[in-house]
Amino acid sequence: MAASYVGRFAPTPSGPLHLGSLLAATASWLDARAHGGRWLLRIDDLDAPRTVAGAEAAILATLEAHGLAWDATVVRQSDHLQHYRAALETLAERCFACRCTRRDLHGATRYPGTCRALRLPRRGNALRLRVDAVSGLHAFDDRVQGRYSQQVAAAIGDYVVWRRDDIASYQLAVVVDDALMGVTHIVRGADLLDNTPRQLHLGACLGKAKPSYAHVPIVAEASGVKLSKHNAATAIDDRAARYNIRNVLALLGLDPPRGDIAELLAWAAQRWRIDRLPRVPVLPGFVAVS
Ligand SMILES: [Zn+2]
Repeated sequence: MAASYVGRFAPTPSGPLHLGSLLAATASWLDARAHGGRWLLRIDDLDAPRTVAGAEAAILATLEAHGLAWDATVVRQSDHLQHYRAALETLAERCFACRCTRRDLHGATRYPGTCRALRLPRRGNALRLRVDAVSGLHAFDDRVQGRYSQQVAAAIGDYVVWRRDDIASYQLAVVVDDALMGVTHIVRGADLLDNTPRQLHLGACLGKAKPSYAHVPIVAEASGVKLSKHNAATAIDDRAARYNIRNVLALLGLDPPRGDIAELLAWAAQRWRIDRLPRVPVLPGFVAVS
């Protein structure tokens, strides 16, 4: 029991929650409750062009309908802009401006260092953080997926911390947000697993405490395609909240009894063992329970 446990759920307001995001939210909530911890809600609205009007209200309504109560006031990334700028200034000497477009990089997963020595102006360009072989090796013990390590310099290369459109990158924002909120335990979808070494690298560069990580399996459709807002996965129907929670608990390996949502969640929190989740990145699909 960690008395200081602080967990969080951080959805992007680009659409309603779908089953996969409800599963991640429920796993994170159960883990916090099982540890007697706090569970915070952050709306990741940094990427204004992707923000959809009404999505935040819909997300909050869905969480409420499913009994996933959060502690403290909702936090928004748009409240943290000055903190992102401060973090960037801390990193400034290790950054360089990059003018490469997605097309220039031909879909390469690793940045080849094209602009490293060009001394381009910051304005109008993205900023990348230099990663070397010494600082770039990051390994951690994920509570679900086990040992995970990545040499960021070899796998990703110098990565973007500030976007061309003058917005903090997702990686920088998340590290700053979690530190500001005092998050100790991150429970999120396994689709973010390979982002974690970059976030550990950034956290080390910024002198932030290292949180504990658990990457829970994401839910696939029968075809194996990840459920997400991008492939128009079905939005959660709040009127079927009890059914949805039973479905999510079944996907999380629990065999829920009959009962209302509060009873189901209390029952699940008592039995919650995150180390017993399937150690796979993707769950095969829907489990229909009545
Ligand atoms: Zn470049």
